[in-house]
Amino acid sequence: MSTSVSAAETAVYLAQLPAGLQAKAMAYTQGGHWLLLWSWLVTLAICWVIVRSAVLTRLGRRLNARRLRPGLTAFATVTVFFLARWSLSLPWSSYAEWGREGAYGLSQQAYGDWLGQSVVNAVISGLFSGLFFLGVYALVRKARRWWPLWAGALAGLFSAAALIAAPVILLPFFNHYAPAPDGPVRRAVAELAQSTSMPAQIVIYDGSRQSSRFTASVSGLGATAQIAMSDAMFQKGASLAEVRAVVGHEIGHYKHAHLVLLTAMLTVLFTLGFWLIDRLYPRAAHWMGLAQTTIADPAGFPVVTALAASLTLLATPLINTVQRTIEMDADTFSLNEVRDPEALISALLKSADYRAASPSALEEALFYDHPSIAHRIDNALAWKRLHASAGVTPKGRPVRR
Ligand SMILES: [Zn+2]
Repeated sequence: MSTSVSAAETAVYLAQLPAGLQAKAMAYTQGGHWLLLWSWLVTLAICWVIVRSAVLTRLGRRLNARRLRPGLTAFATVTVFFLARWSLSLPWSSYAEWGREGAYGLSQQAYGDWLGQSVVNAVISGLFSGLFFLGVYALVRKARRWWPLWAGALAGLFSAAALIAAPVILLPFFNHYAPAPDGPVRRAVAELAQSTSMPAQIVIYDGSRQSSRFTASVSGLGATAQIAMSDAMFQKGASLAEVRAVVGHEIGHYKHAHLVLLTAMLTVLFTLGFWLIDRLYPRAAHWMGLAQTTIADPAGFPVVTALAASLTLLATPLINTVQRTIEMDADTFSLNEVRDPEALISALLKSADYRAASPSALEEALFYDHPSIAHRIDNALAWKRLHASAGVTPKGRPVRR
């Protein structure tokens, strides 16, 4: 992919990373690949336990006896399942999402704080999923053979609503977002937003509450669009040039409608997934000991979840590949707008503690949702070589007043 010249040049940058940090990042990243497998097995085991306990079947029977509307039965069953799943997986998620992060020095969050946020997350996703599957089960009953198509469309609607509402309704549950205080960071970011005619709010959030990762993100759409920098960036000494490079990358995501693209792709995958779940349900239900149900029965929701988790695991390399393509495009947008490859590279190096910088090609293809830092540095250096002769200088760097 890269010529030997640029590979050697990239290696010079990567050599700046302390060996200890690289070894730790490698262990963290590769362990993370295994987590995908273990998490899948944990989900299967929990779904099986919930089926065996027959708690949902009994709940359904009781609700039906009270002649509750089928939609409400579906809502109640799915929500109860989500809460049960959350409780049963708590030992595992405490390790995977909290203990492990702390062990690698990537989080200082107290367990109580993590647990509180996990409860909030479980309640929100339980209610949201309950509503969604209320719709899906109605479609299974009414649209029969064509339900996967309709359910895919409903998933698209819910995803779009979540995309638009997230910065306003969802994210404030977990972090505090505020405009950058008046000063050089705010001015640099405002200039960049203006020169790229980016409508989004650009804010800083207390990301260090959960994680020390050097990171920023984009969320929302139109009026709710928001670019958020974690305060961990500043704790790691982000320079103004690095802020510009990183925010330029996030603006790229927005300008090139990457979130919309991902939502559209997920809608197609959801439709395909529902169709496969419809096909595979009878056999999976038989294996899990629920042979007497059809897919229209919400008591079979653990079977649906087990199938969905399996299909998601299989689709991960495909989703990752689309995401890597998008991420590289956002890097190139930043390079074209901010014109500061050195700043982008130094920002990338600051994320090397949680993403091993130079994985094998297979590992990157299967598991990386961002291109490896090595590939991203390659890309920045290629851009630099292409533009060096034209005398391009970084935007915002020239001395003013
Ligand atoms: Zn990105």
